[in-house]
Amino acid sequence: MKSLIAGNWKMNGLAAAKSEIESLIAKFDGSAPDDRDVLICPPATLVASFAAEYSDEAIQFGGQDCHANTSGAHTGDLSAEMFADAGAAFVIVGHSERRADHGETDADVKAKAAAVLAAGLTPIICVGETEGERKAGKALEIVGNQLAGSIPDTSDTYVVAYEPVWAIGTGLTPTIEDIAEVHDFIRSKTRDDIRLLYGGSVKPANAQEILAVTNVNGALVGGASLKADDFHPIVMAAPSGS
Ligand code: PEP
Repeated sequence: MKSLIAGNWKMNGLAAAKSEIESLIAKFDGSAPDDRDVLICPPATLVASFAAEYSDEAIQFGGQDCHANTSGAHTGDLSAEMFADAGAAFVIVGHSERRADHGETDADVKAKAAAVLAAGLTPIICVGETEGERKAGKALEIVGNQLAGSIPDTSDTYVVAYEPVWAIGTGLTPTIEDIAEVHDFIRSKTRDDIRLLYGGSVKPANAQEILAVTNVNGALVGGASLKADDFHPIVMAAPSGS
């Protein structure tokens, strides 16, 4: 399976941040290697221009969220169809910051993921327990419930990102054994061809060890995706696949 290394820029990046994309392309010697998939999810304002300018260099672009409807009276929202129109290939749905800041439920995430598939794009469906839930020994139960509630009934391809909430932006990561346990558990609930990403404080220093774990098929990277100097070694730490 080909690894997918996805950068989530969150609410960071103005037009000038294209210099980081250009720096990444330069580090790739002009084009991303074809034995792994490289995805950047910049702010929505930048998706169309980046996709138009850089898709030839084998970097894909995606959205960070979308509305479940195709169009309508939803001021400020963007549909999956709009991301497809802008040249996106993926849309992240159910990120813990969306679940926390906007009260998104598993049912909301499922509807959004279905909308992404209907638009011909691939959803990256995020799940993960809070610190309290892990300490209470409930990580697998929480992740299992989120998977059951958030993944649409589909034969299409989607991606699951396991992102423990307490590891996001904190510098903390689960042990390799804990990552393996959750990924094996998610694999037992998903098809074999579904890529399972780990996310939460992935850095150049820990990427190789995490990406070598069985059933870890890539990474969703926040802070370390903003700078090509950090993101490039993470991309290159992924095992070669086809
Ligand atoms: C994320 O927000 O998806 C994420 C993984 O963030 P970070 O890498 O900064 O922990």
